[in-house]
Amino acid sequence: MQIKKGIPLIDQHDKNFMYGGKFGGNFIPETLKKPIDDLTNLFQKLRKDKKFLKDRDYYFKNYVGSPTPFIKLENLTNFLGGAQIYAKVVSEANGGAHKIYNATVHCLIAKRAGKKYIIGDTGAGYAGKMLSMAAKKFGLSCKIFMGAKDIKRQRPNVEAIRKNGAEIIPVYSGSQTLVDAVSECMRYWVSHCDTTHMCVGSTVGPNIFIKICAYSTAQISRELIEQVKEEFGEIPKRLKLINCVGGGSSAMGFWNEFMDTHAEFIGVEAGGPKNSKLHAAPLTNSSKVGVLHGAAQYVIQDKDGQIGSTASISAGLDYPGISPLHCFLKDTKRAKYTSATDEEALNAFKLVSKLENISPSLEPSHAFAEAIHQAPKLKSSNVIIVNSCGDSLKDKDIIKKKLGSYKR
Ligand SMILES: *Cc1c(COP(=O)(O)O)cnc(C)c1O
Repeated sequence: MQIKKGIPLIDQHDKNFMYGGKFGGNFIPETLKKPIDDLTNLFQKLRKDKKFLKDRDYYFKNYVGSPTPFIKLENLTNFLGGAQIYAKVVSEANGGAHKIYNATVHCLIAKRAGKKYIIGDTGAGYAGKMLSMAAKKFGLSCKIFMGAKDIKRQRPNVEAIRKNGAEIIPVYSGSQTLVDAVSECMRYWVSHCDTTHMCVGSTVGPNIFIKICAYSTAQISRELIEQVKEEFGEIPKRLKLINCVGGGSSAMGFWNEFMDTHAEFIGVEAGGPKNSKLHAAPLTNSSKVGVLHGAAQYVIQDKDGQIGSTASISAGLDYPGISPLHCFLKDTKRAKYTSATDEEALNAFKLVSKLENISPSLEPSHAFAEAIHQAPKLKSSNVIIVNSCGDSLKDKDIIKKKLGSYKR
């Protein structure tokens, strides 16, 4: 199993849409086949359509707020005394996280398909917030499927979704989190696909959703590679790109343009509470391959092969599966994966927000925890870039509860 150079990673699948012969595919009921085929054909056309690309670039710049800043974290670098640490501040994008890239592209596709309605799933609430924001901007009527448990723990985003004029459909089945919201959303799509476009909020699901999402977030590294060349004159010899991984969309976007370079990729999964067996880190814990939401991937499972329980302080990372693209990157050894516990993420949040003028949400705080762990062991000729892909404001209730106070 090997990654080919010069071909976008999303296109490196076989005729069954499998990456490395093992991950991904379209494991879907017959009823989903037609809408998925239609969307696949449309997207293949749009990728080569000059007007579509022009629109995409226009809205990335004039709506998403691209390019987002690339800054040196000088205080953190000096405090840790080792590698130089930088941040790509994707949380400065419209809406406060990377999911706006995917949501914007899906709305542009929906418009081109002549659909008036758009639906989507959400876990942390960010995907729903971004989709409802973009739907409002592009004049589409929007429904968001969300686990009942997530509705309770992500109040600020729930309010934002409603304020954007979208309807929230609470999902009470299963664990009442993202897994169940995705299933419910797909079920709805089957019976409404003539009028309705569906968006999946990360690089998961049937192949076409993985493709559209990774294609959209790739803008992050398209910006970053230019910013890196401007700062260093070239791509630094020893460069590590550290990103948290839930479904894996921000990491894919952060790494994509660096795929054929020597840059090292480190993905950080949610290790869960310190003294618990529960986590949301299938790659770190050598979970077995299973099928989740229409795609084969490493999935946290119990001994009977049922989807296993997960735990993480961060709802955005609390997902039992992981993008087939990351499974492929892991097995080809192009990327390395590790995890940070809830406590490590909280400590990283505390340190970064104390020393710097950025305030990462709990998801990227997992990536910062790994940077904080590695930097002191490295010489200053090493460069670490962390994707600060979300803003802490959405986590203020949890942070306040855990740390006693919240300052942004
Ligand atoms: C949703 C989310 C994640 C996790 O999803 P990925 O697809 O892995 O990026 C991470 N960080 C933030 C801020 C999120 O909103």
